[in-house]
Amino acid sequence: MNERTTLKINENGHLEIGGMDTVDIAKKFGTPVYVFDEAHLRNMMRAYQDVIDSDYDGFGLVLYASKAFSCKAVYSIANQENIGVDVVSGGELYTAVKAGFPTDKIYMHGNNKLLSELELALNCKVGTIVVDSYHEADILDKLCKERNLKQNVLVRINPGVEAHTHAFIQTARTDSKFGFSVSDGSAEDMIRYLLSKKNLVLEGYHCHIGSQIFEKQSFVLAAKKVLDFAFKIKNKLGFELKKLNMGGGFGIWYNDEDPKLKPEDHADYLKTLISAIKTKVKEYKLNKPYLLIEPGRSIVGEAGITLYTVGAVKDIAGIKKYVAVDGGMFENPRYALYQSKYTVILANRATEECTEMVSVAGKCCESGDLIAVDVPLPKAESGDIMAVLSTGAYNYSMASNYNRNFIPPAILVENGKADYIIKPQTFEDIVRNDATPDRLK
Ligand SMILES: *Cc1c(COP(=O)(O)O)cnc(C)c1O
Repeated sequence: MNERTTLKINENGHLEIGGMDTVDIAKKFGTPVYVFDEAHLRNMMRAYQDVIDSDYDGFGLVLYASKAFSCKAVYSIANQENIGVDVVSGGELYTAVKAGFPTDKIYMHGNNKLLSELELALNCKVGTIVVDSYHEADILDKLCKERNLKQNVLVRINPGVEAHTHAFIQTARTDSKFGFSVSDGSAEDMIRYLLSKKNLVLEGYHCHIGSQIFEKQSFVLAAKKVLDFAFKIKNKLGFELKKLNMGGGFGIWYNDEDPKLKPEDHADYLKTLISAIKTKVKEYKLNKPYLLIEPGRSIVGEAGITLYTVGAVKDIAGIKKYVAVDGGMFENPRYALYQSKYTVILANRATEECTEMVSVAGKCCESGDLIAVDVPLPKAESGDIMAVLSTGAYNYSMASNYNRNFIPPAILVENGKADYIIKPQTFEDIVRNDATPDRLK
């Protein structure tokens, strides 16, 4: 198996990724720019699918959770690697379809799918819809009836496992807006309801216990709870699951508080999960369910870095030193949202010793517009190229045009080649959808 990443420091003392000097990338493509390491992406997709193949007789599929980073190229890569994807909106679905992704391998999520999104899903013949409300079950059944078709569905259940992660990104607590709880009878009621719908074919269960999880036992516990529940439902309602979707949430390295996992270490999480599933399936004499997992962050997070150019440097004597870059919360809102931590490097002076602690500020008109707080750096000067690592997940996908800044372009690097996968925006893009009523002219 390959190394976890192609990131290294080259003979010029510059940071390198995908065989490309990041200083050259910055020169050629400008900054800010998202850079994605194709080898890393593919390695992670394969690492998970290999475990399903070796430990579960290939009876399952990795679904790349495309909300982490969605664009046509990433669906094309997932397709070439023979994995599936999950989508959570009409926009993600449309993008996957435009990229030619086989729709039978698309799973559609969402706690409040719009009528238009469900219609699009049916028009595109999406393989599986993960139902998360009575409202949705009613609409979907009616749409299917009108079209005289039967739709495969999973139901999102909530096993009530609290993953050890940031409170804002936990989704499987009983007070979550997602899923139906297995502990208070609401999941059972929903299953009964779905089984009564003539045009919906319930295939099994989906759960997703949170994000940025390193605790293997939380996945094991979730699997046990879901299969305890599946056994109970089999005895009570005579319904046996055919598919088990355990969601995503596997953690990645952002800074040295996090473990640095190799692809095979990531794969270990899945091995542990599979072993727990096998034990329970045997104990309850269930038919082995088709297994799905939905890693997003762990596939794309460490594959991406963001390059910036340092602009203003402001030293508030004895209090704080700000190094401002040409990006900010419009292209990486994760510090502003969750106080997420990142590792920051001066890409053009990557071998130099860090001599001071600084905060990296963006260019938005918000005091909270920060990329990193109190991180070590060599003495940065305007014109330096800064790299922020592990920005592949939930950066571009959460970006906005706040302050009418451009959402940066993204390039894919591999073996010394670099190509746009998202083109740069222009001022014309910024005003494209503005409309001026006659009375204002
Ligand atoms: C967000 C999400 C994922 C992916 O989570 P990661 O932490 O990026 O692996 C998978 N499934 C569902 C339903 C999600 O909401």
